[in-house]
This record gives sequence, C-alpha cells and structure tokens, in this order.
Amino acid sequence: MRLSKMYVRTLRELPAEAEIPSHILLLRTGMIRKLASGIYGFMPLGWRTLHKIENIIREEMDKSGAQEILMSAIQPAELWEESGRWSAYGPELWRIKDRNGRDFCLGPTHEEIFTDIVRDGVSSYRQLPLNLYQIQHKYRDEARPRFGLMRSREFIMKDAYSFDKDQEGLDKSYDDMYDTYTRIFTRCGLTFRPVEADSGAIGGNASHEFTALSEVGESDIAYCESCSMAANVEKAVCRDAEPSPESEAMLELQEVHTPGTKTIEELASFLNIDKKKTIKALLFEKYDEDGKADGYVAAFVRGDRDLNMIKLVNALKIPEHAIAFADESKLEAAIGAVGGFTGPIGLHDCMIVVDSELVGLKNLCAGACKPDHHILNVNYGRDYEGDIVTDLKVLKEGDPCPVCGAPIKHTRGIEVGQVFKLGTKYSEAMNAIYKDENQQDHPLVMGCYGIGVSRTLAAVIEQHHDEDGIIWPVSVAPYHVIVTLVKPKDETQSKLAEDIYQKLLTAGVEAVIDDRDERPGVKFKDADLLGFPIRITVGKRAGEGIVEYKLRRDSEKTEISVEEAIENAINLVNEEK
Ligand code: ATP
Ligand code: MG
Repeated sequence: MRLSKMYVRTLRELPAEAEIPSHILLLRTGMIRKLASGIYGFMPLGWRTLHKIENIIREEMDKSGAQEILMSAIQPAELWEESGRWSAYGPELWRIKDRNGRDFCLGPTHEEIFTDIVRDGVSSYRQLPLNLYQIQHKYRDEARPRFGLMRSREFIMKDAYSFDKDQEGLDKSYDDMYDTYTRIFTRCGLTFRPVEADSGAIGGNASHEFTALSEVGESDIAYCESCSMAANVEKAVCRDAEPSPESEAMLELQEVHTPGTKTIEELASFLNIDKKKTIKALLFEKYDEDGKADGYVAAFVRGDRDLNMIKLVNALKIPEHAIAFADESKLEAAIGAVGGFTGPIGLHDCMIVVDSELVGLKNLCAGACKPDHHILNVNYGRDYEGDIVTDLKVLKEGDPCPVCGAPIKHTRGIEVGQVFKLGTKYSEAMNAIYKDENQQDHPLVMGCYGIGVSRTLAAVIEQHHDEDGIIWPVSVAPYHVIVTLVKPKDETQSKLAEDIYQKLLTAGVEAVIDDRDERPGVKFKDADLLGFPIRITVGKRAGEGIVEYKLRRDSEKTEISVEEAIENAINLVNEEK
C-alpha cells in the first residue's frame, strides 16, 4: 500500500473523553471513527488489525474442532422469554420493535439462539460433543460507555457454545477452550492471566476470565504469589477472621452517646477502638422486574471490611440492576434505620444479610438505630440474626489468601475473554435434549466462551505503545514493514525504495511505502505513531545500496545493505507472524 493513497486521517485535536492510551492512539491514528457514544467504525488500518486478531481466533478455534457459523444480531424476544432473560437482563439489553410491534433485541450474547439451533438439530449422543462459534457485532446499552473500544455499546465478539452429554464432557470442552484461549492471547502478543470469575447474568457454576494485565483495566484481580490462586475480586472468596476466643464472655449491651460519628472512622476514633470491633451497615432497596420498589435489604460487615456487591446480589439471587443504595430519607419510617447510626438491633421490615465472620466475633459496636447513638457488646445469635449469612467481603490487598494464607496482592486487568460452564441452565429452560445409548432423554450440558475482539485490539495497544505511538506485535500489525522514502523526488532513492517494496510484497510481507511528499521528520513521526514493526529507510546512501533498518520496538538503527535489510525483514515476519 502506498501511504500517499491510503485513507488515513490522523487526528490532531483529540476529544477530552479520550483518557487512556489505546483510546487516544486509536483516534490519533485514525484507526477508528466515532459515530455516537460507544459506537465506532473501523477505518482501513483498524480494520486490518481487527482482521488479524479475528484470524488468529479463527485458526485456533478451528484447530480445536469448533465450527464457525454466523447468526443474526437481531433476536426475537420469544427465545429470551423461554430462558427467562427477557426480564432478567435489565437495561443493557437493547430492545427494539418491528413495524408490527413484535419485540426483538440486538444480541448482547447468543446463548438462546445457539440453544435453539441445537435443540432442532441434535437428537442423539452420536452428534456430541459439538462446539459452534461466530464472530459478530454485539450490542449492550452500557450505562457508561467509555475508553473507546474498551467499553462500547456496539462491539465485536467471538462467542462459542459447546454441547456435551455430561459434566465430564463439558469439563473436557471447557479445558480445550481454556487452552485455545491461552494460545489465542499469546499469539496476539498479550501478557495475561486467567482468573476465576463470577458467572454473572450468563449463569452457570464455573468461570474464568482472561485478563490482559494493565493499569487502565477495569477488572480488579486478587492473586497470590505463594500458590496459584488468582480471581476477579468480584468472585474472590475472603477468609473469615478467627472467631473470638471461647473464653471471651458476651458482655451486656450498652448504649453510648456518639454524637456526629457517622462513619466507621469517626466512630472508632471517638470511642478509641479498633475498626475491627465495629459493624458496618449498608442499606439497599430492591426492585422487581417492572422496576417497582420491592423491599429493603440491610447488609452487615465488620467495620474495616468492604461489601462485595456481587456477593450480595448472588446471595439474594437477583441481578445487579435489581438493587440500589436506599434513599436515606425514607428509611427511618420504613425500616427504622437512622443514617450513620444503623445497626442490626431495632431494624424491622427488611431482609438482613450478615457477613459470615460476624457470627463468630463477640462484643462488637453497632449503630443503635437512634440518632447520635451506638450500642456496645453486640453479639450475633443473642442480639440479632441474619436472614442470610454468607461471605460478603471484598478480598483486599494483604488479606490472607483463601487457599494458602499468604498475603494477597491486587493488580488490574482488562477482561479480554471469559469462559463459562453453563451446565443445563439453558437446555433445561429451553428443552434442548438428546437421547443416550438407551434412548433415554437428557438435557444437553453446555459451556459458553466469549472473546471481546475489538476490546482485545485496544488491550494490545495498552500493552504495546510508548510516548510516540503504537508498537505493534508482528502478529497483529496492520502492515509489517514501512519503507520510508526520504526524498521521493530523488530518482535513485525512489527506484530503490520501490524495488524493496516490490520484493517484500513478492515474499508475502505486508509492506507500505511512504512515498508522500512530506518532510522526513513528519514521515518518521507518522511511522512511529502508526507503529509498523519494521522500518526500512531509503535515504542518502541509496546509491551505495545501503539503507537504514530499524525495529519499532528497539531504539537502535543499523545501516545495512538492501539485501540484508530485505532478508532480515522477511525472516522476522516469518518467525513472528
Ligand atoms: P464486562 O464485565 O467488562 O462488562 P462481561 O463480563 O459482561 O464484560 P461477557 O459477557 O463475558 O462480558 O462478554 C465476553 C467478552 O466480550 C468480554 O470478556 C469482553 O472482552 C467483551 N465485552 C463485553 N462487554 C463489552 C463492551 N461493552 N465493549 C467491548 N467489549 C466487551
Ligand atoms: Mg465477562
């Protein structure tokens, strides 16, 4: 491709919303174009890289035995009603109506559609296992689309669905996909970590997220250096603190005047006690499927802990969007809570969810449900009980590892893919069954496997850039080599550059030639910004058959013969593509 002819619009004025490197660089290089909030188009260079990523995914999925298909992005509501997700999915589901008022959605994911395909086409155990996948646009009306391709409302996903006879088959399909994902992300040049994950709205009972390590990532990962424990913080189990010793007596309740101590910090310093001796209350209101208020929930954790919302909604068996912090002004009349002074004693008409470690801790201080007052020596069992008692805590940095006890570390990552063991959730709801060897009916046992293709593109840039621009790994670079022609008007230079360019193309190397009538400084800057892995510069020494050879990822450049430069480039591309 000739840069003089290529449709690239590099942006000089960046919108303020572009905060993270991948978003900034995707816009500056003109690889993507914004159409509306969270909705982007791909321009020639962006589209080429996206194709490279898609093809890596395709090759590895095909190698695993999965078969590619393409379903419509538009899905009829009836299928979602069968699975129960038409109402459960919430406002992210992009609902549309046709001219006759029939309901559809723009698919955020395709479990229902694939289950429907297979219930029609699979009847016997002989057809199993089966894994079908597609690469397609997905739609989620995200509350806060941001960071460019990272969290958009229209994005490209690879989604695969496996169907097996039994759990053992699913375990094998899942492990195959896990290994396939490991190969895919390695080939994309990503440094990543598979972590245990919550299975969220998709459902099921086991899941891993593949997270590309990055400071700008939205996933908070807890991991242990002493063992292999690594989990999304949403999911990470948190060990309960050691219970108070048997010998410690339960003391009598004692109300204390604690004026103005609305936060745990204020309370602990006012009473001069450890935050670990206090109970923190968090109050929520639930909503039903039609968005109507549906009762209150009070959650209690030890004062120094943070509440893990995902654990709370899982305990309540409701989707995340069906609960929100309660409006304080209504709480006193409704449930007896008093802002900043709420404790488990004195609450009424609400569901009480208690973190499991509070059960074993004696003589804690909690709000008295009375302005400016707390109660000392509150004990679980004697003074209050929970409707649900479970682990509600965030596993924080330094907490003991739930597996081996060593101090936990945290890091951030970008979720580029997720694999789920769905089990029979969809096949039972939608009656997708097969007959075994003895003509007995069983529900299909399913797994599902997603990769954010466009998000992966952004993640690659997050991990491969410097202050001058992108540094593409060869495997996903839009082009491998840029031949920079310093003076297009100089015939020797221009002939040599053209010759190199043609030889590279003949050898199957994807090359561009910068034949634009621009100053050399501009050309070098653009080459760095666009990030092609290899630059061959044809300049002053063209007459001697000498060119400059430089890798974008290295700082040094060498002057070598044309033949050597071409050979080096071909070899590097063949090794790394
Ligand atoms: P997130 O937690 O980031 O919202 P998710 O867990 O809801 O993502 P999945 O249902 O697991 O997403 O979808 C599969 C993959 O699709 C994700 O691993 C991610 O890479 C990608 N993805 C999900 N939502 C978006 C989005 N809004 N924009 C771009 N990619 C997305
Ligand atoms: Mg996910």
